[in-house]
Amino acid sequence: MATAAEARTLQNFVGGSFVDATVDATLDDRDPATGELAARVPLSGTADVDAAVRAARQAQPGWREVPPQERARSVLALRDALLGHREELTALVTADMGKTLADADGEVGRGIESVESAAAIPHLLKGETLEGVASGIDVEMIRQPVGVVAAITPFNFPAMIPLWFLPYAVACGNAFILKPSERDPRPSQRICELIAEQEIFPPGVVNLVHGGRDAVESLLGHELLDAVSFVGQASTARLIATRSAETGKRVQALGGAKNSMIVAADADLAASVPAIMSSAFGAAGQRCLAGSVCVVVGDDSRQAEVRARLRDAAEGLTTGPGADPGTDVCPMVSPEARERAESAVAAAEAAGSDVLLDGRVGGGDAGAFLGPTLVEVADQESELAREEIFGPVLALVGVPDLEAAIEFANGSRYGNAGSIFTTSGATARAYRWGIEAGMLGVNIGVPAPVAWFPFSGWKDSIDGDLHANGKDAVDFYTRKKVVTARW
Ligand code: NAD
Repeated sequence: MATAAEARTLQNFVGGSFVDATVDATLDDRDPATGELAARVPLSGTADVDAAVRAARQAQPGWREVPPQERARSVLALRDALLGHREELTALVTADMGKTLADADGEVGRGIESVESAAAIPHLLKGETLEGVASGIDVEMIRQPVGVVAAITPFNFPAMIPLWFLPYAVACGNAFILKPSERDPRPSQRICELIAEQEIFPPGVVNLVHGGRDAVESLLGHELLDAVSFVGQASTARLIATRSAETGKRVQALGGAKNSMIVAADADLAASVPAIMSSAFGAAGQRCLAGSVCVVVGDDSRQAEVRARLRDAAEGLTTGPGADPGTDVCPMVSPEARERAESAVAAAEAAGSDVLLDGRVGGGDAGAFLGPTLVEVADQESELAREEIFGPVLALVGVPDLEAAIEFANGSRYGNAGSIFTTSGATARAYRWGIEAGMLGVNIGVPAPVAWFPFSGWKDSIDGDLHANGKDAVDFYTRKKVVTARW
C-alpha cells in the first residue's frame, strides 16, 4: 500500500495514451478495510471529456471498417488478457471496493463471461431479410454502430459493470468512453492498462475518463456523444436519463433496488437460510441484487421459527476485511456509507422496529464496518422496508400467505430482482407469474443472469428500455437500417 506521499494520481486514457487530467482537483481513493490512501482520482472536467470524445470520434469510422469477426478477435484478446490477470484484478477489486476475495473473483469471472458473450458478435449482428414483399421487391434490415458511446458506472462492481458495456460497445463497431465510479476506479484503470500494453484495440476505440459529476455533465452535454449506458442509484439514473433525453442521446440507465426474498411456508429452511444470508450480507449488502427485505409467509409459529433461524445464522457470520479468508461480511465502501445505513437502522428503531441483531460497532478501525443487522420492521411502508439502504441490513416482514407476500413485494417502487424459497412448483409458478421485477430467483438468493441474458429490472430500477448484456446490448449499441430494393 502506498504512503500518502507515494499515492499516484490516476491518469485518463485518451486516444491510446495515458494522460494527466487538466484539472488539479482530486478525490482520495482509500482501501475501505484499512482507510489507507491508495490513489488520487482526478475530477476531470470539460476539456478532458472533450479530448476523449474527440479521440473516440476520430477512431470510430476506421474501427467500424474492421470486419466483425476481426473485432471479435480483439474482444477475445481482451478476454485472454483479463484471464491472464484474473488474480491481480481480483485483489484490486478487494483493495479498492472492499468485498471478499471470493466475491471479487466471482465478479471478475462474470466480467470475463460478458466479454466472452460479446465475442459472438458476428452472429449477434446479423440482420433480417424478407423476400418478395411486392413483385420484385425485397427488404433487408441491417445493424450499424451508434457511433461514440459512454458508460458511467457505480462503485459496487468496479470490474464487472464496466465489462458489461465495453466489449459489446466495441464489438458492435462503436468507440467507447468509460467514466468509472470515482470511489474505486483502479480496476478500470488496470483494464485500460492491459488494453494499452497488449495493443488490443486501435488507439481511441476505448477511452477512460476519471471523475465525478462534472465529467458526467460534460459527457451528457457533448454534441459528439451518441449514447449513454449508466448504472447507479435510482435518483442518478433519473438525472442521467432526463439529461440524455434533453440532449438527444440514446440512454439506458439502470438504477437502484429493494429486492424482496419470500420465504414460503413450505420452504426448506436448511437450504434457504444460507442463501438468504449470502444475498443479504454478501458484499456488505452492496449489490443491486441483494435481498434486503425478507418476507416470511406463515402463521405466528412459522414466522418465529424463520426469524430465529435467520438470527442464528446472521450471528454466526464473521465481519472483517475482504482480504481475510474467514470474512463473510466485508466493510462498506466508506465511513459515510456506513453512517447512512446506521442512521436508517436508528430511525427504524426509534419508530418501534425490533432490532433482532445489531451490527453497529462504531465503524471499526477504518470506520466502514457494519456487522449483519436484522430488523423486524414495525411499519411495512417504512424507509427500512421500502428504500434502498445498500448495507448489511436485512428487514423482516411477516405476512399470512403467498398472495400477501407478492402484494408486499409489488408495493415497491423498484423492480430489479426478487427471490422465492419454496418446495412447491405451483408456488414458484404463481410467483413468476405475478411478481413485478426483471430478475427472479427460485431457491436462489442472488439471481444474477449469466451474460448471454439481459440484466436489469423493471419500474424505478431502470430508466430506458434495453437492459445490459445479451441481445439487448446489441440492440442498444446498434441502429437498425431497413433497405427496400427493386432491381
Ligand atoms: P451513484 O449513482 O452514486 O454513482 C454512479 C455513477 O454516477 C458514478 O460514476 C458517479 O460518478 C455518477 N454520479 C453520481 N451522482 C451523480 C450526479 N448527481 N450527476 C452525475 N453523475 C453522478 O451510484 P453508486 O452509489 O456508485 O452505486 C450504487 C447504486 O447502483 C445502488 O443504488 C445500486 O442498486 C445501483 N446498482 C444498480 C445495478 C442494476 O443493475 N440496476 C447494478 C449495480 C448497482
